[in-house]
Amino acid sequence: MPTSTPLEILNEVFGYPAFRGQQQTIVDHVAGGSDALVLMPTGGGKSLCYQVPAIARHRAGKGVTIVVSPLIALMHDQVGALDEVGVESAFLNSTLQFDDVQRIERMMMSGQLVMLYAAPERLTTPRFLAQLDSLNERGLLSLFAIDEAHCVSQWGHDFREDYLGLSVLHERYPEVPRIALTATADEHTRADIIERLQLQDARLFISSFDRPNIRYSLVEKDNPRAQLLRFIRDEHEGEAGVVYCQSRRKVEETAEWLSQQGVNALPYHAGLDSGVRQRHQDRFLREDGIVMVATIAFGMGIDKPDVRFVAHLDLPKNIEGYYQETGRAGRDGQDAEAWLTYGLADVVQQRRLIDDSPAHEDFKQVQRKKLDALLALAEAHDCRRVRLLDYFGEQSQPCGNCDNCLNPPATWDGTEAARKMLSGIYRFWQHGRQRFGAGHLIDVLRGKHTDKVSQYGHDKLSTFGIGADLSEQHWRAVLRQLVALGHVVAEGEFNTLTLTDSARAVLKGEVTLVLREARDAPKRSGKTTRK
Ligand code: ADP
Ligand code: ZN
Repeated sequence: MPTSTPLEILNEVFGYPAFRGQQQTIVDHVAGGSDALVLMPTGGGKSLCYQVPAIARHRAGKGVTIVVSPLIALMHDQVGALDEVGVESAFLNSTLQFDDVQRIERMMMSGQLVMLYAAPERLTTPRFLAQLDSLNERGLLSLFAIDEAHCVSQWGHDFREDYLGLSVLHERYPEVPRIALTATADEHTRADIIERLQLQDARLFISSFDRPNIRYSLVEKDNPRAQLLRFIRDEHEGEAGVVYCQSRRKVEETAEWLSQQGVNALPYHAGLDSGVRQRHQDRFLREDGIVMVATIAFGMGIDKPDVRFVAHLDLPKNIEGYYQETGRAGRDGQDAEAWLTYGLADVVQQRRLIDDSPAHEDFKQVQRKKLDALLALAEAHDCRRVRLLDYFGEQSQPCGNCDNCLNPPATWDGTEAARKMLSGIYRFWQHGRQRFGAGHLIDVLRGKHTDKVSQYGHDKLSTFGIGADLSEQHWRAVLRQLVALGHVVAEGEFNTLTLTDSARAVLKGEVTLVLREARDAPKRSGKTTRK
């Protein structure tokens, strides 16, 4: 085979006229034998960054590229696609019969294969390493590509123990170039990847993480099912989409309910029989207009170009997870939408998941910070995209294509309201050394004579009725923002409310709180600023 330039390979093998973004520079760098760490958003075109160098180096007689990939489905798709364009590749995973394994190993050992995809746990077995040793001694070990490299980080959202073993590659084959790729750009995770995979000398390629064709909307939870149905019917009738839910049960219930409403919905979660999962995934990929209702078990490595929306019925754990999940929409570059609905209960639940986890306190602290960043995004009254990109270290201007840009939320000076609410919580404690939940607090502020109010004598408190000017919905919005801002925590079985240290400054009137107006809320007396 004659040697060829990367561009010739792109044209002739893949049939694309030109490289996109940084692909050309990355490909040249890696084909030339240097290490790279590539951060590129989902849909950015990471695969070609190692496939083209793999082919170029193979044609130059350098042998086999080993691609590490965490998912069987992903390997399957990639090898299928390479097969179609006539590039000899194969995968090794637990689904293969021994005969097939032997056949593939022979093709690998002869240097005939261009790319071999393998799961990390297989790569680090003594048997496989011995084979790599032999290839390496004969100069036929061309390149290592480590896909979904964030799996090596414990801070990330899909940590895989087996990825830790991949440091052996550099130790054992220091002369063989490596390219690691991920769509997770968070600084913490990046530092972790570099350290654990020993990529200190690798050149870092960071692409813009902006996905301008995706419109971000984060709405307050009111009646989530009805909101979701309205969203699908009004804006995405008959289109393909993914609806993420936190629990398996909710996935099943939501899929069933959507089906009853006439939406073509299917459930997907790790607890379903693998045959059912496969069938649903295949239908999602092949048929038009399927809505997949799923846990986050669904999605990694699913390359469906025309997913028109990604909806979240529950709050994700952090911005990286959220961005990666929503990034599955609109890979074809056409308009797509990322829609999330969240409420106070979501905030409380995510905080509790962190608190109750058996993890180390340092780890929990990091998780809390990440959750706070997501809450700040959810409560933001300015451009969502500016905030998202800022989280990944990228500066940008208001996008004109997110809910806040298109329909700027009204904001108001909520300092007084916040002080009333915080005093309400404080008085309960002062009065009877007791804590209460949101419902009772709001009843007291609004001066409602309920049984509970009389039972505790709360109509005698100075805070009784001081908030009659605001509706219940407004108070809920204030409380949610106070929780999001970390001035109040809701904890225990009944979500009872407690002030944090930072509440003191608000109570004393030392800080001004600009709050976002509850959307669709009835008119509140007092001033509202439209931006
Ligand atoms: P990622 O792995 O970063 O999510 P992929 O490698 O799956 O992205 O690429 C996303 C889509 O873009 C694929 O359908 C791929 O064929 C296409 N693509 C990537 N690079 C180019 C290019 N230079 N020209 C045309 N299409 C491209
Ligand atoms: Zn915007």
